[in-house]
Amino acid sequence: MPADPESLRRARQSLEALRSAGIEWVPRAVAQPPVNRPAPSVKPPTPEPPPATPTMPRPAATTNPVTPDQRRIRLQELAEVVSRCARCPELCSTRTQTVFGVGPIDVELCCIGEAPGADEDAQGEPFVGKAGQLLNDILKASGFARSEVYICNILKCRPPGNRTPKPEESDNCREYLHEQLALVRPKFMVAWGGTAAQNLLKVTTPIGKLRGQLHEFQGIPLLVTYHPAYLLPHRNPAMKKEVWKDMQLLVKKMGRSLPESSRKYASES
Ligand code: SF4
Repeated sequence: MPADPESLRRARQSLEALRSAGIEWVPRAVAQPPVNRPAPSVKPPTPEPPPATPTMPRPAATTNPVTPDQRRIRLQELAEVVSRCARCPELCSTRTQTVFGVGPIDVELCCIGEAPGADEDAQGEPFVGKAGQLLNDILKASGFARSEVYICNILKCRPPGNRTPKPEESDNCREYLHEQLALVRPKFMVAWGGTAAQNLLKVTTPIGKLRGQLHEFQGIPLLVTYHPAYLLPHRNPAMKKEVWKDMQLLVKKMGRSLPESSRKYASES
């Protein structure tokens, strides 16, 4: 059966990366010793599998996971597949570890950022460090505990120097993200930062024009707002008030109310 165009694109990308690293050939997946093959007159030979692409692990084939337990198990399987992923030659050679995601399934809210930074790469968890602490504060002021929210990134590996993910890297990782979200089944989502928002919505519109309203990602209402790292004291703390407006809109659309403690955050924003 002919390979689909996406598989061919990834195979070509991987082979080009190997060639640029000086590797001129790769072995076939399974080398059958000729002496062990059955004689054609006794049994027809089994067709050999296509050449392996050992740098491109694929998700394990499983039955459609439907129940919460099945989805939790599949999520764990997917995280293990991602932990061995080498689709992006540069990222898999520079990462400390993959950063898959954290939180329960069937959540009211899922937060999605751009990619792991240095702290996330070191700890293996998204949104830690100073930006992560600010995210926790924003969530708390909006009435959410971090532990009840699912948190992940568009990319599962840290781009060196925290550079913006390349389009082909986002393409490579999209399959994982989409399956992850299908398993988690959030009721609402927040895209933190322009890269995450543009990736999910497949647009190039600046974040300033995307925020302040709800969009949709595969039928799930999606809010776009600024990334907490952008709001840190040495960058643009004044924009916290815009994020606060966005979060108030989200809370209202979710039919929730803001906690008393949010007054403090609002006055400081
Ligand atoms: S960013 Fe995603 S697709 Fe690329 S190597 Fe990491 S896990 Fe694989």
